[in-house]
Amino acid sequence: MELAPQPTNPAFPTMLSGDIVQDSVDTRKRSTGRRTVGTPFVENPRMTCRDVEVYYGEKCAINKISIDVGRNEVLAMIGPSGCGKSTFLRCLNRMNDTVPSCRVEGDICLDEIDIYHPSVDVVPLRARVGMVFQKPNPFPKSIYDNVAYGPRIHGLTKNKAELDEIVETSLIKAGLWEEAKDRLLEPGTGLSGGQQQRLCIARAIAVSPEVILMDEPCSALDPIATAKVEELIAELRTQFSIVIVTHAMQQAARVSQRTAYFHLGDLVEVGATDKIFTNPQHRLTEDYITGRFG
Ligand code: ADP
Repeated sequence: MELAPQPTNPAFPTMLSGDIVQDSVDTRKRSTGRRTVGTPFVENPRMTCRDVEVYYGEKCAINKISIDVGRNEVLAMIGPSGCGKSTFLRCLNRMNDTVPSCRVEGDICLDEIDIYHPSVDVVPLRARVGMVFQKPNPFPKSIYDNVAYGPRIHGLTKNKAELDEIVETSLIKAGLWEEAKDRLLEPGTGLSGGQQQRLCIARAIAVSPEVILMDEPCSALDPIATAKVEELIAELRTQFSIVIVTHAMQQAARVSQRTAYFHLGDLVEVGATDKIFTNPQHRLTEDYITGRFG
């Protein structure tokens, strides 16, 4: 299992696992939230989140969280139900904008661009930071049109041949081409659950995202379909950053390079996945991974 890259940038001095990081290391902004232990920051991150707070009305669901999303890494987010994993995930492409009572504070940048800046258009943002949901949700369209949808609305192709090429490449990357190539004009909803989820991944890939967010992408799938999606996640990492919320700790252990443990809206610990599962620094993390609660 690979270890997360160790920071060398002076803004992110090298951290030892177990260091108290938010007060002592994140020099860009000091945090008053719970202290996160481990390695929330990486060198040359794809996304940076600093002091992110999320409220639903008066209720605080995320309490000053700071973390990076690395390039070509799978970052798993684990923790008990209701601890804010999905809420935080949805902040990364402003999906929470659709919840009227939801307010997001702090800074979230994608390649130095503040994604909450008023000038940012969420439509292209959600192409760059795609999302795959818990329940496969293909559009009521053909397999081809599901994948072609994004490139069409974003005007990514000049002609049908280019669109055909993107559809084929995306289905190949999603591991669905062999199963789908002879039925491209059939409805996406006619595929099996696991195939539908891979179709949704192909749809996300088709617009060349930088980050793919996955909210429990296998929880509606059987073990064989789950294994295929996990295999796919491992392959996709070579091109994209992936942030995955999962209830299945074994899944986090299998697919991710770094794991973040959330507890009641706090980011308690982040670290190399093997370390989190074999030698967690924080008692709350240890209690959770050993099944003492959750
Ligand atoms: P997790 O993904 O870890 O199960 P969530 O992010 O779904 O946690 O929820 C975190 C907290 O925010 C919970 O207390 C939940 O009830 C609350 N919450 C989530 N979505 C909404 C919403 N749309 N409106 C109000 N509260 C919400």
